[in-house]
Amino acid sequence: MKNKFLKIKKETEAKANIVVVSKKQKEEDIKKIYDLGQRDFGENKVQEFLNKKETLPKDIKWHFIGHLQTNKVKKIIPHVHYIHSVDSLKLMREINKQSVKNNTQTSCLIQIHIAEEVNKFGFNYNEFLELVLSNRIKEFNNIHFKGLMGMATNTKNKNKVAEEFKLLKSYYNEINKHISEFEFISMGMSNDYKIAIQEGSNLLRLGSIIFK
Ligand SMILES: *Cc1c(COP(=O)(O)O)cnc(C)c1O
Repeated sequence: MKNKFLKIKKETEAKANIVVVSKKQKEEDIKKIYDLGQRDFGENKVQEFLNKKETLPKDIKWHFIGHLQTNKVKKIIPHVHYIHSVDSLKLMREINKQSVKNNTQTSCLIQIHIAEEVNKFGFNYNEFLELVLSNRIKEFNNIHFKGLMGMATNTKNKNKVAEEFKLLKSYYNEINKHISEFEFISMGMSNDYKIAIQEGSNLLRLGSIIFK
């Protein structure tokens, strides 16, 4: 586990940062990766995240990466450092509202739907672009818009995955012209991180490949 992490870290660090996805993992195993210097960890379930945050070291930066129901937003703010999975206007409004209440700013990545599967979450790109171009995005005073996140289709067809990541990168480049805080393009998981890096990812979300 440790060697696997160090190997991938070395292989990717010139281009991308890693969020180690610690969902379903034992705290002692997470701690082993922490002890190698890793500070960014990702969780996709609210209660599991809050439990881990309680017991693991306080200097961990927690990234929420899973689909977030609006009624659970108030539980995770202000515990969370980044939300990668902002996938609707409704959720954006609730994150802003709860951030105002907590007198805090929440760093968010907008999840864009790029995969073939319809059951994957995400904004339609044009819908988000419209928010940016019309300046309605300025209403979200307590959100820092830090970048985009996307998940490719779960397929062995590498060309297809590459095409989807390429598309997300082109979206990122466009929106980056309009939002000065943009810095992250979160794409690439255990099965497709090499392709993601080739296509310009600078933030990988890696779980199983590290812990298996
Ligand atoms: C679980 C998960 C990951 C990590 O997936 P692995 O295949 O284990 O690397 C990345 N992103 C999201 C949104 C996830 O839910």
